[in-house]
Parts: sequence; C-alpha cells; structure tokens
Amino acid sequence: MKAHIAIDIGGTQMRAASYSVDSLDPIKINRIQSRTPGSKPTERLIDLIKSVWPEDHDVSSMATAIAGPLDIPNGRIIRAPNIPDLNDFFITDYLSKKFGVPIAIGNDANLAALGEWRYGAGQGHNHLIYITISTGIGSGIITEGKLLVGSRGMAAELGHTTVVPDGPICSCGKRGHLEAIASGTAIAAWVKEELARGTRSTLLGAEPFNARRIAEAAKGGDPLALAAFERAGTTLGKALTDFVHIFNPSMIIFGGGVSNSINLLLPHIENAMQENIFAPGYLDDLKITTAALGDDAGLLGALALAREFRP
Ligand SMILES: [Zn+2]
Repeated sequence: MKAHIAIDIGGTQMRAASYSVDSLDPIKINRIQSRTPGSKPTERLIDLIKSVWPEDHDVSSMATAIAGPLDIPNGRIIRAPNIPDLNDFFITDYLSKKFGVPIAIGNDANLAALGEWRYGAGQGHNHLIYITISTGIGSGIITEGKLLVGSRGMAAELGHTTVVPDGPICSCGKRGHLEAIASGTAIAAWVKEELARGTRSTLLGAEPFNARRIAEAAKGGDPLALAAFERAGTTLGKALTDFVHIFNPSMIIFGGGVSNSINLLLPHIENAMQENIFAPGYLDDLKITTAALGDDAGLLGALALAREFRP
C-alpha cells in the first residue's frame, strides 16, 4: 500500500506524520523541538522522518511546510526563523537523496491555506483567502481551484501590504505594513504606546501583556483595549476589501492565536469592508469564518501537497 509523509518545520517544533492515500488519521506521528543545544537540526529532522516511516507501506512522496521565505524552484530555504542552521539550505535535494523519495516544499501559511481548503473550513470553496494572525500575519490564497504560489513560490504575503504609509515599522523592517498594525504584536505595541501617552486603562501596570490579555480587558469593557481591536479590525477590513477586489473569494478564513478574539475584530472588519467595497456584489456570498484545523493545518496542508505532487 502507498503512503505519504507530511512534515511541518516551525520555529519551535518540527512535526512529521505518515498517512495512507485516503485517510487523515496518521499511521505514525511524532514531534520534536526545532532547536536542541548540541545537535544538528538536519540530523534530527532525518531521525524524525525515520520515526514516522511506515513499515507496511511504500512511501511515494513527501512534502514539508516551512516557516520563512523559500526559493521553491530550487528547493531551498532562504531563511528559517529560529533555526539558523537551515538558512540557505537546499532541503529538497538533501531529503530526497537521503530517502530516495520525491519531496515538495511550501510556505507554512500557504500550506495551512491548502490544508483548510482540502480538509478544513474551506472545503468546496475554490476561491478563498486564508489569513493567520498571531505574532505576525501570514496568508495563503486559493484561486481558481489552485494554491497561488507565484513565479518563485513567494506569493502571497498579504501581511506585508502597505496600509499606512510612514506607519509603524514592520517585523520585515519596512513601514506601515498590515502586520505592523493588526498582528498580535502590533496590537500590544499600540496599547503600550497609548499607556505611555497617559491613556487610562485597566491594563496600566499589567505589563508585560499580549493580545490575549488585551482581549480579556476588552471583553471586560476596557475602552483602550476595545479601541485597540477597533483599530486592528478596521485596518484589516480595509486591507481585506482590497484583497477581495483582486481575488473575489467566496470565503475568508482567519487562523492564528488572534482569531480566538475574532468576535472583537469582526464588527470592525465588516464595517470597514462595507464602507470601502467597490460594488456590494463582492460581499453578497462572502463567508467569513475561522480555521478548523488548528495546529494541524500546516501538517495536513503538507499532506495535501504530497498527495497532489507529481514530480
Ligand atoms: Zn512587513
């Protein structure tokens, strides 16, 4: 019987699982820390894959989701956040030679989008935008029934869209990107600035705090916390209006930790979309929902890629 191996290489954990051709229940599954002092991540990755190799199946392909920018045509990790040993690393060559099996790679947010489309919240929606909001903002787009990857595999970084010229500095070093306004990190940074300016809030003296703590304060009616989600939601809504104009999706899926606070964001997202949309038809059948696969989205996206992969 044939099988596939799916891998998810993240900044804190590496996960791998083997699957038969038609089931989402793994044959074997395992996870390790991405970094352990004194051992090489490449060697531990090999051991991780060996640990999920199925004895009674023929592995016909593998695929891995990787956090960070990739050079997909050359099978190279450009930069692996938190795992410097994997920077500028030709992972496709390395793994396919070790195991004698073809391997595909994909950006983790793109493969989370693929996973949600094939197996999660986006099933049946051949035009969808997946946006994951946590410390940063990642995204993936399914358009015309296909994952959009672009000429070098570097699409689609919606989080690095300029929404406020000369706005706050983004994690990428540029100014005014969506991620710099609406990520969990950005929400917390803005609240901190407002507190320093003397704005009154129950969050005063509660530092260090994160977006989750601010969400709790907002649910308790704290005006500064509510304003923080209004600012993030309105900015997200305006940006999403642009993306909807370009891609005309039938679904937007929110993932990531901040999506647990979607109820605080959604009214502002919807208001901003209704105010800025070019024609109401874009919104008529548009569903906005949250991700269904949680932490498994990247792994299951890699599984979908492995199953579709024709080298
Ligand atoms: Zn940026």
